[in-house]
Amino acid sequence: MKILVPVKRVVDYNVKIRVKADGSGVDLANVKMSMNPFDEISVEEAVRLKEAGIATEIVVVSIGPQQAQETLRTSLAMGADRALLIKTDETVEPLGVAKLLKAVVDEEQPGLVIVGKQAIDDDSNQTGQMLAALLGWPQAAFASKIEVEGDEATITREIDGGSQTIKVTLPAVMTADLRLNEPRYASLPNIMKAKKKPLDTKEAADYGLDIAPRLEVLSTAEPAARKAGIKVETVAELVDKLKNEAGVL
Ligand code: AMP
Repeated sequence: MKILVPVKRVVDYNVKIRVKADGSGVDLANVKMSMNPFDEISVEEAVRLKEAGIATEIVVVSIGPQQAQETLRTSLAMGADRALLIKTDETVEPLGVAKLLKAVVDEEQPGLVIVGKQAIDDDSNQTGQMLAALLGWPQAAFASKIEVEGDEATITREIDGGSQTIKVTLPAVMTADLRLNEPRYASLPNIMKAKKKPLDTKEAADYGLDIAPRLEVLSTAEPAARKAGIKVETVAELVDKLKNEAGVL
């Protein structure tokens, strides 16, 4: 079985985000970019399924600028076999991404697509669900455990206050949640080997799909700054403030 894993290049999760002065978006100049953390989890899961003899090939795909090649190389160093960069310098929203991914699925015919549950830049949490809908395939979102047997998969899903176990028939789309696994670090020899693995590049425009943005960003704002704390003299004063000012007692 072939597994397709979409990986997105996003602002590194450790970076302190700066909003552009005109509020039109986030300042990306000289900012460290990395693979979306949920996509690292998806790649790891695919590699584990290959190590377990369930998957035969892992194809990773990224939609983005030329530099997204680095994200693909990282996936190859983690254990993916082949990569495809769908190049564009424009913003592609989840619906556009899902349309392009559907075209890749039609071409590659994977048995499983493991998408990250959410990209940490747009926080949309839409792409996997939209892709499943466009394909007419079953979906298992927020997976924290994946077990594949024949043409079925049993998935444990993270839900509010607990978990849910469902069975889907393959091919299917799954989205990876935080607890699915802990991704490995690519070793130096594997980083070197990844340089020789195949990486194809195509232009997004060549797919002939309508991937124009549907949304207009009206404003972007930093979270309100935290107010400084105060010192109280006595426990009685603290209790009084918690009761009468904060209203938490
Ligand atoms: P989102 O719906 O934007 O929160 O993204 C959810 C997931 O969709 C990500 O974790 C990726 O697996 C995939 N995805 C979104 N955008 C891209 C992209 N430009 N290239 C590759 N995969 C993407």
